[in-house]
Amino acid sequence: MLRRRVIAGSTPAPSIMKKNYNKLREFLADIEHEQWMSFTTSIAKELVLVDDVVVDSILERWQKNWKPYKKLSEDIKDKDREWADKILDSLPIRCPIYQCGGFMATKERKLPKDFIEGEHYHGDDQTPDLICDNCGGIYQFVRFKK
Ligand SMILES: [Zn+2]
Repeated sequence: MLRRRVIAGSTPAPSIMKKNYNKLREFLADIEHEQWMSFTTSIAKELVLVDDVVVDSILERWQKNWKPYKKLSEDIKDKDREWADKILDSLPIRCPIYQCGGFMATKERKLPKDFIEGEHYHGDDQTPDLICDNCGGIYQFVRFKK
């Protein structure tokens, strides 16, 4: 089986990738917010008929955030970003090794028998490998670049 070690931070243009990732994250968080507004405004139409103090406070809280994503406070945006992260974290990763079209799956590496956690600070023994389901290529974390 093919095995290739890739050093973190050695990708061609990490700053561009990070910028694009953040843009995508904000785009997804914006959609998450729209979804939330759509849900809460439709529920609110039914709740306004309920005469209840608790319901009134919920509606009041929701109404404060019934505005475009870009006008929300950073604290509220973080709640939408949490959902954006859930999407991003569950997206399949295409094989970066040979660009063979396969998808990468995580696989925990077996720790060495003499493994002592306090002596390993690089994370290379704790980070799962990514294995291509098509070509079998292994993307293995080695260490952080200083
Ligand atoms: Zn592959």
